[in-house]
Amino acid sequence: MIEENVKKLFSQLPEKNAFGEKITVVAAVKTQTTEDINRAVKAGITDIGDNHVQEFRDKYDLIEGSPKRHFIGHLQTNKIKYLLGRTELYHSIDRFSLAEELSKKSVAKEITSRILLQFNIGNEETKGGFETDEYKTAYNSIKNLPALQIEGIMAMLPYTDDKVVLMRLAQKTRRIYDELREKDENFKYLSMGMSGDYEICIEAGSNMIRLGTSIFGARNYKK
Ligand SMILES: *Cc1c(COP(=O)(O)O)cnc(C)c1O
Repeated sequence: MIEENVKKLFSQLPEKNAFGEKITVVAAVKTQTTEDINRAVKAGITDIGDNHVQEFRDKYDLIEGSPKRHFIGHLQTNKIKYLLGRTELYHSIDRFSLAEELSKKSVAKEITSRILLQFNIGNEETKGGFETDEYKTAYNSIKNLPALQIEGIMAMLPYTDDKVVLMRLAQKTRRIYDELREKDENFKYLSMGMSGDYEICIEAGSNMIRLGTSIFGARNYKK
């Protein structure tokens, strides 16, 4: 099942998005067993993303095949220490205080942490992230913090079947990304797209998608 899903995904996915950029798939592994994650990696998944620090820690040494480890979930500042130096890319930098603390801890450990700024593109109360109309302020406040490298932005589209609305929001996110990228040569990732909307996101210019259900099937939160 997982093997088939991965194979099907890669056979259907365009190699590049509309902007000619390579698309990276990050497997969203929340609630999945180590065994299933290892199966996905064996089938060709190169990058995996955790939402929960506890799951990340529990499974860290049990994942085989050395996939790149992303962190994609809400992060409490007091848990940064468990991820520090073990995370390829932090997708969910959604507030200044988190960036500031990650910067401090990275300085102390003498490493550079690579981050994406998370935007609340649908303006939803239930989702974290910077407001889209404050993107310049958010970027400017974080860009000079030491030991951090901003490499792009992350966004989650709202749940809706309205493809026109989704496309409009995805394109708006790409415009913000492009504007910041013009000023910052480290920008290379627009992390946008989940199982239900990744095709639209790629069409709008996403180059990194985070997929759970399309790889592992429907999640079982009781496991
Ligand atoms: C769970 C999750 C995903 C993947 O969701 P699916 O709809 O199962 O593909 C992507 N990004 C984040 C931040 C997630 O928490």
